[in-house]
Amino acid sequence: MQLSPYDSEHFPEIREGVRRLCAEFPGEYWRELDVRREYPTAFVKALTDAGYLSVLIPEEYGGSGLGLSAAAAILETIQAEGCNGGACHAQMYIMGSILRHGSEEQKQAYLPKIATGELRLQAFGVTEPTSGTDTTALRTVAVRDGDDYVVNGQKIWTSRAEHSDLMLLLARTTPKDQAAKKTDGLSTFIVDMKKALADGSLTIRPIRTMMNHATTEVFFDNMRIPAANLLGEEGKGFRYILSGMNAERTLIAAECVGDAKWFIRKSADYANERHVFGRAIGQNQGISFPIARAYANMRAAELMVHEAARLYEAGQPNGAEANMAKMLAADASVEAGNVCIQTHGGFGFAEEYDVERKFRETRLYQVAPISTNLILSFLAEHVLGMPRSY
Ligand SMILES: Cc1cc2nc3c(=O)[nH]c(=O)nc-3n(C[C@H](O)[C@H](O)[C@H](O)COP(=O)(O)OP(=O)(O)OC[C@H]3O[C@@H](n4cnc5c(N)ncnc54)[C@H](O)[C@@H]3O)c2cc1C
Repeated sequence: MQLSPYDSEHFPEIREGVRRLCAEFPGEYWRELDVRREYPTAFVKALTDAGYLSVLIPEEYGGSGLGLSAAAAILETIQAEGCNGGACHAQMYIMGSILRHGSEEQKQAYLPKIATGELRLQAFGVTEPTSGTDTTALRTVAVRDGDDYVVNGQKIWTSRAEHSDLMLLLARTTPKDQAAKKTDGLSTFIVDMKKALADGSLTIRPIRTMMNHATTEVFFDNMRIPAANLLGEEGKGFRYILSGMNAERTLIAAECVGDAKWFIRKSADYANERHVFGRAIGQNQGISFPIARAYANMRAAELMVHEAARLYEAGQPNGAEANMAKMLAADASVEAGNVCIQTHGGFGFAEEYDVERKFRETRLYQVAPISTNLILSFLAEHVLGMPRSY
């Protein structure tokens, strides 16, 4: 069942290749890892070897130099096939910070190795336990000492830290009360995590969560970073992080559209197969209408994802569209997941149907990487001109 014209018309070869790869990783694979909260190493290796995680890296640095919509098609297809790109999606886009703000030397040093997978840059250290969404209140400090910066502090929800060689870290280099604006004085660093782990200045503690997400908390204890690993200019890190967010939001939104497609297909199939009271349950409008509504909402969100990617690729501002795409797609996937559980009745809760697993996985996107309230707040203030709510 084709759920959208995009499924066959938008990067058809890439989508077909991803579908074939995902077929090697069926529900059993994900279920077993889910029980043990184990990282999907074989799946990530297959995606890396096939070049899907390096599509956004320009050809001159060893990637395929494709745009955001190609990356979105890859991530959407992974989710629509029942797999989970959350284990490695950041390898696709964190490198964008180096690409946009790094020196030529840094690009040459990192991007070709990220393209081959020799270096994994998929840990993103922004959120802290005390600051939450209020990023400028973060407390991790980086103090210049000769040719190094010395970092002390803590991050939380640093996903994939145990499966990454490098981390993009946001830390305060100028105390907030000495910075002209609260968004000034934050700097972005490329951290060699393997080295810091080896010398004991970095500690990683896994956090067991409701889904298999490889997220952690990390602690910095006099961790030294060479000054050469500062990205761009000292004090401008907050701007660099913001500049990558619209791409990230568009890609996460594409993943949610993929999840919604998986739930809708699964729901419609089951509604046709399952017979109760002598007829298919899909004959009851109480079953078919919620699936149809979830479908309509998924298609609307899908259009917004394409609009956000189109604007991004045209070099136009897409903050509102990327945020709306993220919110609408996350809402569509949760709605479709909820409908899918309801359609399956008791079996919706049984692990072997994968519905409950996918539902737990897609629920995250109401909160991360940006929660729905903060998106509404952005739209109210920046698009509709209402007062700032925080
Ligand atoms: C599994 C997982 C993986 C993650 N991975 C990463 C990662 O790799 N790197 C990273 O840096 N972070 C990561 N995060 C962190 C994630 O981005 C944050 O959890 C998210 O941005 C919300 O921040 P918070 O948890 O601190 O919530 P808080 O800021 O404490 O907010 C709590 C609630 O209050 C609401 N709220 C707060 N302020 C307002 C306001 N002014 N108006 C209305 N509502 C408000 C929020 O919307 C939220 O619902 C991850 C989180 C999870 C759960």
